[in-house]
Amino acid sequence: MSEPLLSVKNLSVTYGRVEAVRDVSFDVAAGSLVTLVGANGAGKSSIINAISGIVRPASGSITFDGTDITRAKSHRLVPRGLVQVPEGRQVLATMSIAENLQMGARSYGKGAGAAIDEMYERFPVLGERRKLPAGSLSGGEQQMLAIARAMLARPRVILMDEPSMGLAPKIVDEVFAVIDEVRATGTTVLLVEQNARRALQAADQGHILQNGHVVRSGPASDLLADDDIIQAYLGTGEVNG
Ligand code: ATP
Repeated sequence: MSEPLLSVKNLSVTYGRVEAVRDVSFDVAAGSLVTLVGANGAGKSSIINAISGIVRPASGSITFDGTDITRAKSHRLVPRGLVQVPEGRQVLATMSIAENLQMGARSYGKGAGAAIDEMYERFPVLGERRKLPAGSLSGGEQQMLAIARAMLARPRVILMDEPSMGLAPKIVDEVFAVIDEVRATGTTVLLVEQNARRALQAADQGHILQNGHVVRSGPASDLLADDDIIQAYLGTGEVNG
């Protein structure tokens, strides 16, 4: 088997005395979609933030494309192709959609216009409303904008932190359609989600997190088909869609 594009080994993250993540290991193969699912506080954001250099791991190692990036800073990882879409979307609400995308396209120089036009083709809603403030978009459309902005960085792997958070079920479907679009470009995706069922439906591999630890791993379709797992970890209370 070829080297995974991203590999996390024995990762632990602590905040003072809080052990948020404990001995978590998983691989992400190039071109695949891997999801980490778990309830509030399971440690999902801590893992993604450790990978993208936003928080410093207490122990363990992270390898990206064969290079150790355990202590690399976020701004150095983006040009290497590891890009995060933050939780809560974080679009610049008073700036126009076009301006939000221009911020993501700075590295293109003269080619920025063409790169942004490509995003408008891929996500027509953004093109139609390009002159409007980003804050006028619905929650799902803002998520689309945040993903489009991240795609402008030409990621090899895109890390998504709960893209469906706070969205109505119909809008969640739209966001997952955008995630399918991202995959269609060949981009590798690591998705953390509380909406376990929906995320596992979209994923190749899944890992179930509980209290900072991976309790089950496997092909996403196997996890979804396992009644014991559904009962124990993915009960209706945790699933929004
Ligand atoms: P959510 O779905 O609510 O975002 P999560 O699965 O992403 O949850 P984390 O945000 O990684 O989980 O949090 C894991 C644990 O670490 C929680 O107990 C949380 O309270 C704690 N934690 C997270 N960030 C900090 C921090 N900066 N300082 C102290 N504790 C933190």
